Amino acid sequence: MTPRLPALPGTDRDPVKFWVLVMFFGAGVGLAVLGLLLPDGRGAWPDLGRALMLGNGVGSLGALALLGRAWRRPPLRRFDLPLLLLAQVCTLGGVLGETFLFGSQVSSMTQLWVTVFAAGFLPRRLVWAQQLVGLASVTLMVWARARYGLNPPRLWLVDVLVTALPVLLTGVAVAYFRGAAEREARALERAVRTDPLTGLGNRRALFETFGAGQSGAARTGLVMLDIDHFKGVNDRYGHAEGDRVIRVLADVMREHAGPGDLLTRHGGEEFVWVTAAGDHGELLTRVEALRGAFAQRVEVLGVTVSAGVAVTDRPLDDPAVLVGVLRRADTALYQAKAAGRDQVRLAS
Ligand code: GH3
Ligand code: MG
Ligand code: MG
Repeated sequence: MTPRLPALPGTDRDPVKFWVLVMFFGAGVGLAVLGLLLPDGRGAWPDLGRALMLGNGVGSLGALALLGRAWRRPPLRRFDLPLLLLAQVCTLGGVLGETFLFGSQVSSMTQLWVTVFAAGFLPRRLVWAQQLVGLASVTLMVWARARYGLNPPRLWLVDVLVTALPVLLTGVAVAYFRGAAEREARALERAVRTDPLTGLGNRRALFETFGAGQSGAARTGLVMLDIDHFKGVNDRYGHAEGDRVIRVLADVMREHAGPGDLLTRHGGEEFVWVTAAGDHGELLTRVEALRGAFAQRVEVLGVTVSAGVAVTDRPLDDPAVLVGVLRRADTALYQAKAAGRDQVRLAS
C-alpha cells in the first residue's frame, strides 16, 4: 500500500516541452521574417498576406515571452492552453499569409508542429480537441489555396485529404507512443517502490512518500514490526515457508490498515506501518489486534511478532522527523524483544 506516490526525480518532461516550444515559435518568427523579406509574389491580397505574416511573427514572439515567464515560474502546464491557441493561430496566420502574399503554401506542414506539441505534451482531452481544430485549420488552409492560390480549385477536396492525413496520423502516432511510454514509466515507478515478495511498499516508498510532503495527519503513529525468532522459522521449516510467513504478515497488515496508511517492508522480516494516531491507547489496541491476528494465522508454526510504536505531532515530511521517529520506534521494538518478545512497546 503506497498512497499517492510522487513522480520519481528525472521523469520531469517540462524541459523537453520548453525547448520544443522555443524551437517551434523561434522557427515561426524566422518564417515570418523570411516571408516579409521576400519580394511580393502572385498572391491575391499581398497587403492582407503581409499583415498576417507580421501577426504570425508578433504572436510567436509573444509566445516566446510567455515561455520565458513560465520557465521562471513553473509549472509550464499553467500555460498549456494559451500556448496551444497561440501555436494554432500563428500557424494558420502564417500559412494564410503566405497564400495571400505569394499564392503558394510551402509552410502548410507547420500545422504538424501544433499537432506534435499537443499529442506529445498536453492532457488527453486537449489532444483530441486539437486534432479537430487542426483538421478545421487544414481545411481552411487548403480552401484558401484553391480559392486564392495557385492550386486548381477542383482538386481542393483531394488536397484537404493529402494535407490533413499526415497531420492527423502524426498526432495519433505521437499520442500512442507517448501513452505507451507513460504506462511503462508508471509501471517502473511502481516497481522500484514495491517489495516484490509482499507487494507492499519498500524502504524507498517510505522515504519518498514523506519526502514529498504527504503526511496529512495531525498526529502520526509509526509502528515497526519484526517477526520473532525468524531465523528459527527458516531453519525449521525452510526458506520457502519463511517467505510464506512474511507474506502472511503483509496480508494481515493490509487487513488492519486504514485507507491512507502506508505499509512497507523495511528489511528481511521487518515492517513499518504509518497510520493516523488519534490517541496512544487506541493505536496500541490496533497494533495488538494486528499482532493477535497474525499469531492466530500462523498458530501451527508458533510464530509471533513484536512491535515498537512511536507517535509524533510533527509532519513526517521533514526527513529529520521521519528518521527520529523511526529511531524511536526501533528502540521501542528492541525493548519489546528484550522483554521477551511477542509484545508491543510504546516509545517514550
Ligand atoms: P528476533 O526475534 O530477535 O528478531 O530474531 P530473528 O531470528 O528474527 O532475528 P534476525 O532479524 O537476526 O533474523 C532475520 C532473519 O530473516 C535472517 C534472514 O535469514 C531472514 N530473512 C531475511 N530476509 C528474508 C526473506 O526474504 N525470506 C526469508 N525466508 N528469510 C529472510
Ligand atoms: Mg526478527
Ligand atoms: Mg529483524
